[in-house]
Amino acid sequence: METLLTADPKEAAAFIRRGGVVAFPTETVYGLGANVFDEAAVAKIFEAKRRPADNPLIAHIGDLSQLEVVSEEITEAARKLIEAFFPGPLTVVVKKSAHVPLIATAGLGTIGVRMPRHTLARAFLAECGTPVVAPSANLSGRPSPTTWQAVLEDLDGRIDCILQGDATEIGLESTVVDCTGAVPIVLRSGAIGVEELRRVLPEITIFAGDTKDSAASPGMRHKHYSPRARVVIVGDAGEAKGRENAAFIGLDARGVEFAKSAICASAEEYAHRLFAFFRECDLAGIDVIFCQRIDETGIGRALMDRVRRAAEG
Ligand code: AMP
Ligand code: MG
Repeated sequence: METLLTADPKEAAAFIRRGGVVAFPTETVYGLGANVFDEAAVAKIFEAKRRPADNPLIAHIGDLSQLEVVSEEITEAARKLIEAFFPGPLTVVVKKSAHVPLIATAGLGTIGVRMPRHTLARAFLAECGTPVVAPSANLSGRPSPTTWQAVLEDLDGRIDCILQGDATEIGLESTVVDCTGAVPIVLRSGAIGVEELRRVLPEITIFAGDTKDSAASPGMRHKHYSPRARVVIVGDAGEAKGRENAAFIGLDARGVEFAKSAICASAEEYAHRLFAFFRECDLAGIDVIFCQRIDETGIGRALMDRVRRAAEG
């Protein structure tokens, strides 16, 4: 199959309406979308990404009226989060409606829903006229794509179209909150920090594991975010000294030289650059990538979660 590159949201959305799969930018990472109600199209997402069938997809909506199309029951907690953070990098897990095929939710009775705030994503979703289920637009296990070039690297010839936008602003995936139980639970840390969520829902808890054996958020079990190079977490650049063909990403390298490095001015910049840096290191044939540990506040929690998973990979 030939993968069409276009900057026109209308042209990209036409593929969704014909049952195709399209990669599109959002404020978090690039997603790989299909019409939520088209089972054959949703199956193409799993095939193109080589995604395990037990890993559920997030439904992206273009406006709030589409909430009730995919969900049967919006709990009080979900309503508060939606009011505070939609549109934005937050996914609420709610009970799915009967029309949503089980392939989209990996057999679960619940569905993750998010409304991106990204202008081009919004224009694309409006043209699609249906909620679009989309996981990150990478081959399963690889770092999530933050540029259209990264999508092309993984999925050229495997998908119908890439909607070309800029590099994504945040660079890490959305925060996922399960709103179906008595107490809302953060299933996956992400762009919106727990501190911010607590301002709206003081009772929110964090899924104890946030680990590989997470049963509540099945996708979190799978290998994730791994470059080919080995990833090692260090307190500072000094710990990484004296290694051949090594790269470093963090806040401060203090005079230590590396074959490749990314010194970031803030946790936000570190998050924005992480996945692209992993891919650049692979293209440059780097053997080991040292990632500096940072405080797990705000986006730092999600960043360290991704770095740990990459280091396990
Ligand atoms: P991705 O967009 O590739 O990061 O994948 C979406 C992730 O969102 C999954 O791997 C899960 O961790 C989470 N997710 C999506 N839908 C649900 C759901 N219904 N219940 C729990 N977690 C979900
Ligand atoms: Mg993913």
